[in-house]
Amino acid sequence: MAKRDYYEVLGVEKNATQDELKKAYRKLALKYHPDRNPGDKDAEEKFKEAAEAYDVLSNPEKKARYDQYGHAGVDGAYGQGGMDMNDIFSQFGSIFGDLFGGGGFRSGFSGFGGGGSSRRVMRGTNLRIKVKLTLEEIDHGCEKKIKVSKYVPCKTCGGTGSRDGKSETCSNCHGSGVVTEMRRTMLGMMQTQSACPHCGGEGKVVKDKCHDCHGDGIVKSEEIITIKIPAGVQDGMQLAMQGQGNAAPRGGVAGDLIVLIEEQEHEVFERQEANLYYNAFITFSEAALGGSIEIPTLNGKVKIKLDAGTPSGRVVRLRGKGLPIVNGYGRGDLLVSLNVWVPKNLTKEEKKMLEDLQKHSNFQPNPSKQERGFFDKMKEMFS
Ligand SMILES: [Zn+2]
Ligand SMILES: [Zn+2]
Repeated sequence: MAKRDYYEVLGVEKNATQDELKKAYRKLALKYHPDRNPGDKDAEEKFKEAAEAYDVLSNPEKKARYDQYGHAGVDGAYGQGGMDMNDIFSQFGSIFGDLFGGGGFRSGFSGFGGGGSSRRVMRGTNLRIKVKLTLEEIDHGCEKKIKVSKYVPCKTCGGTGSRDGKSETCSNCHGSGVVTEMRRTMLGMMQTQSACPHCGGEGKVVKDKCHDCHGDGIVKSEEIITIKIPAGVQDGMQLAMQGQGNAAPRGGVAGDLIVLIEEQEHEVFERQEANLYYNAFITFSEAALGGSIEIPTLNGKVKIKLDAGTPSGRVVRLRGKGLPIVNGYGRGDLLVSLNVWVPKNLTKEEKKMLEDLQKHSNFQPNPSKQERGFFDKMKEMFS
């Protein structure tokens, strides 16, 4: 499969600045982030592709080689499957950090720290939970106390997994945590290293196992976790709370708690990013005479003034009455659509009044050019 041009991948010009590159990459990384596209292979490929393009173009040396020789100039640095996910997160961690405003958002990738010949540090698995929020809660940000069932360090053995608190050096790998093998490959004999199967890569084994946790050092427990939700979050967003996931066996690093945001449908408002939409109904008299009407917002009611002769369908923008912009400044707007209410099931008396009104010339439709303009737009659309 031919590789795409790196500039094309990021959608930037050849002379793009570091800032532009970072911006372009951030946008793609956010879109194709594996936490947002769980199990989506295509998104993962795109995510890796963007990381690789950014890795090359943001490095002046690599960029110069790429500009001169194309992919051939830099290919050696990337394996068949492109960049390794863990590399992406460790290399560009800062980008992801400020991507999410430092509010504890992080990738949910679990795995083993280190690598090479160093001992494995066991890492606890991530815990995923859903949190349902109302627009009011999203508007202010909130704290949620949630009961989760998760692994915590075993109290009996202090998380060591051992009855006497002792462990022994693994006799299979002599404490290194890795075993080395020689393998015949197409390129000749190769030395490969893998985690020691006897100690699972820890380099130590527990001899006298704790009875409560069977040597794991962790037990299941029901815990109440307090989750701080920042204002302005959106449906489908994920917050990662570092170290709040499952504890790791025998004193390793705890996993993360991944909180998936679910937004409850609101009774009167529709939401699009930071903007809110509200359908207001006004009487024909209010539309014709003008006046003031009350509009609900997430923070109490506000009055808006109606001009005399307000046409049905007019949209009024209430600046700053929308939701806070997540990881940004300011607020969105509340857009109020004014609809003239047309009564149904009229009484005889009411019908008579309307029939009288109809006779007056001012009640005959007489749209201005602007009002007619709508149809020009429609004609354009269908021609
Ligand atoms: Zn124990
Ligand atoms: Zn071992």
